[in-house]
Amino acid sequence: MISKPHAAILCSPGMGHLIPVIELAKRLVNHHNVTVTIFVVQSNTSKVESELLKAATSQKFCDIIELPLPEISGLLHPDASVVTKLSVMMREIRPAFRSAILAKDSPRPTILIVDLFGTESLPIGDELGVPKYVYIASNAWFLALTVYVPILDKEVEGEYVDQIEPLRIPGCSLVQPEEVCDPMLNRADQQYLEYVRIGGEMPRSDGILLNIWKDLQPKILDAFKDESLLGGVLKVPVYPIGPLTRAVQSPGPTGLRDGHLFNWLDKQPSESVIFVSLGSAGTLSYEQMTEMAWGLELSQQRFIWVVRPPTSKCADAAFFTLGQGDDDPSSYLPEGFLTRTREIGLVVPIWAPQVDILSHPSIGGFFSHCGWNSTLESIINGVPMIVWPLYAEQRMNATLLSDELGVALRSKVPPWKGVVEREEIKRMVRKIMVEEDGFAIRGKVNELKLSAAKALSQGGSSYNALSEVASKTK
Ligand code: UDP
Repeated sequence: MISKPHAAILCSPGMGHLIPVIELAKRLVNHHNVTVTIFVVQSNTSKVESELLKAATSQKFCDIIELPLPEISGLLHPDASVVTKLSVMMREIRPAFRSAILAKDSPRPTILIVDLFGTESLPIGDELGVPKYVYIASNAWFLALTVYVPILDKEVEGEYVDQIEPLRIPGCSLVQPEEVCDPMLNRADQQYLEYVRIGGEMPRSDGILLNIWKDLQPKILDAFKDESLLGGVLKVPVYPIGPLTRAVQSPGPTGLRDGHLFNWLDKQPSESVIFVSLGSAGTLSYEQMTEMAWGLELSQQRFIWVVRPPTSKCADAAFFTLGQGDDDPSSYLPEGFLTRTREIGLVVPIWAPQVDILSHPSIGGFFSHCGWNSTLESIINGVPMIVWPLYAEQRMNATLLSDELGVALRSKVPPWKGVVEREEIKRMVRKIMVEEDGFAIRGKVNELKLSAAKALSQGGSSYNALSEVASKTK
């Protein structure tokens, strides 16, 4: 009897990592006849993440094995960045992952897939004698920067952010020095060394899976095939297999105690509500929160706003702590805001069912931190964006969305550089919701929505790319 191919997927902590891995698993199981075990590293800190895991486990479409994290506090400085923490966690988990994957009662994988932070586990694929892939739940420009950073590391002197000239990556748009991803902001920080290492490990895989589709970034995908461009750096194939996003009404954390939010949305006119949400980790400073509240109120547009207690510490402050502690928005929103906007807006603390909201016909715009999952969820629902990049690779994503793809507006001063004032927020919201410029952007995002759906359908480019990967399993 020939048994089904079986994929082992190693997933690092974080909602933005777990969500696309679960979707990849579903796709392999439902469309490509591959069984899957997901190995998730337990960071045990985010309540929302535990709820998502519980929900995915109860769906039983694949096995989910949680790997308890060994004690690593001695290996980390208390102020270590998210990237450093994730890198150390994924390094220290290797023995547990290896034992779990080789356990007698576990199905023997025929393919190994790791995410961005799991590249140090690629040799386990060699040990098993199976093909091994890296799943980058982001876009081709970010992949290009990642595989090219070991070269930039040798060529560029001084800090990247201090360069006068933009960074050149073969076959790609220029990267503005101040828009590099977080690990490149300070070359003396451990996260930079980890990022260069990850970039250098990518070519040791048998291929890279990207959560995009071919027609989204054809130029960069061609550069990866061209030996004289990026193909000379990354000699393994790149498979655009996306956009893989959650379906509506996915079980998991809802952030809703009742159906109030959807009852309210159902009563609003078509495309009249702007959704404001900054991913699984995003937080704003107190000052920026105040400006955001006033901007929304002054715009006189309907809104749903997912709020978190303000912090001036860092923009990804909620990464490991989402949902911990009490939250009372009236303690940090401007006095009277909740009462004055009662008729036009809803404020949801901590977490809301984003995919369900974005797919609702009353939603007409999305204030997004440009995390890649959120970006895809917006595009597949034809929702134009106002970009609000905060951390990780989001500054580049914002440029891609506003300047290259034309599906988003951006503020004059980016939010990671300074406070965006209420008047500008009001202007952007009105532009995207009620003014003509917004309609043009809406038209472009609807074109992308159609091309994404085509790519995913049977026989489409993303469907075929994942079929090809599935067929390589031994
Ligand atoms: N998300 C959600 N509700 C929230 C905030 C986030 O459902 O209130 C989901 C969102 O739909 C997306 C994911 O969390 O699927 C966030 O991933 P993304 O890549 O956009 O950003 P990250 O959190 O990794 O920065």
